[in-house]
Amino acid sequence: MATLVKEQLPAILEVNGGSAAPESVAQVEDHVGEPLSSFLPYAMDCAVIVPDETPPMDVRSGRLGLLLRAVPPGGTERCLVNGVIASIDDKHNKPLVTFTAELPPFVVRSNGFWLRLEKRPEVSSFETAASDVFHQIEGALPELVKMLSGAKRGDVVAVGMVYPDEVSWRHSADDWVFLAIRVTREAKRSRNAEVRAEFVRADWGGKQAWLRRAPFLAPMFDKAALVVGLGSLGAPVCLQLAGAGIGKLELVDFDNLQVGNTVRWPLGWQYAGFQKTGALAAHIANEYPYTSVDGANLRIGNPRAPGGGGSSDYEILRRMATEVDIVIDAAASHRVSHFLADLAREVGKPYVWLTTTHGAAGGIVGRIRRTSSQGCWHCFLRNLGDKTFRLPADAGTDEIQPGGCSQPTFIGAGIDSSAISNLASRLAVATLCSGADGGYPDFTWDVAIADIYREGIPIAPEWTTYDLAVRQDCPDCSVQA
Ligand SMILES: [Zn+2]
Repeated sequence: MATLVKEQLPAILEVNGGSAAPESVAQVEDHVGEPLSSFLPYAMDCAVIVPDETPPMDVRSGRLGLLLRAVPPGGTERCLVNGVIASIDDKHNKPLVTFTAELPPFVVRSNGFWLRLEKRPEVSSFETAASDVFHQIEGALPELVKMLSGAKRGDVVAVGMVYPDEVSWRHSADDWVFLAIRVTREAKRSRNAEVRAEFVRADWGGKQAWLRRAPFLAPMFDKAALVVGLGSLGAPVCLQLAGAGIGKLELVDFDNLQVGNTVRWPLGWQYAGFQKTGALAAHIANEYPYTSVDGANLRIGNPRAPGGGGSSDYEILRRMATEVDIVIDAAASHRVSHFLADLAREVGKPYVWLTTTHGAAGGIVGRIRRTSSQGCWHCFLRNLGDKTFRLPADAGTDEIQPGGCSQPTFIGAGIDSSAISNLASRLAVATLCSGADGGYPDFTWDVAIADIYREGIPIAPEWTTYDLAVRQDCPDCSVQA
């Protein structure tokens, strides 16, 4: 208390005295923006996701096209406005800004209004703030008043207000606040509708805003990856790439999910029975609107039933590999790796592979970048064979065949194997961003080999990294040369 009174109070009095120079105020205050939107009482679980672009300054008001989450049955007593702006239109429904971040959970089309204010709305107290603001704007939106007079009890109309505010320290830009206006008593003859207004927070979801916390991922929006093998290694890579903003994923696997997989799979029991491709595609569509997902249920190397027609597995994979920017191999099969490494070389695409050992005791992450001095996957195998590269730790436990599983599998938990998929995701992102200005920086190695356990004891993963140079004894590389 003594310190506060002696040291802090004089500083506050000086800053608020009005005669302080801006520089001395800057020294005392926190360097954070203090927009009104940070201080409002918001309705629980409500948000409207808005694009980077705000409507042009010369248009003062108009209509909003919204896509909202469905209100659960019996939920009309609570305000639930949760969704995304699809378009910001003028009064005559001419689109000014459209937004393509559509997500399957937001299924209910809803019409609202928007209004540009000269400055941030006036708020007298926390408790009355929402109705204060409603009364400030209703005069400017006769269409809103008309809509409310025809609305039923429980109907909700969303209104967005856009205005300049201090969004970051001493920097003013457009900010949004929404009001959800719920009819509590219907209009009748001369009696106006009774309404209750609540604030709904705006959430910036444009590409620029979304990557504000990790701007070095911006090059990922235009990138595509083929991921083969969606088990405990490949599936987490898919989710991490989606979280890193990748534009497109092509997924290949043949397997369906069993509840027993979920000890090392990133999604849980609700997807039991689903094809792994479909489960990941559905999840990513729900969570990451900037990533489009395509998939194929293929078992590489399995002959198709004769007379099936259509493309062969090879044709499908070759087309996918040609269309993407990187081939990621998490198939956990030596033969598939051999095929994919050669395919990636044929179509001139970088190749990243990841494997784990028994017990998820160790693992390997590697890449071929397609530079002339770099060796190939066969060079890598030769380095392993003559111990130029060390082997990862291996628990050597027997494989098991759980009930209902068509083939043996390894013992190992996701808490251990995710160390490998995480490094593979980083290596894939670094490889994809390589050469792009301001992109995720690149690693200085090509192959990393990990121990995750030592003699049965879990350890902080220990990685050994290597450059992968051309081996003179590699027939593939000498053919290329
Ligand atoms: Zn080679």
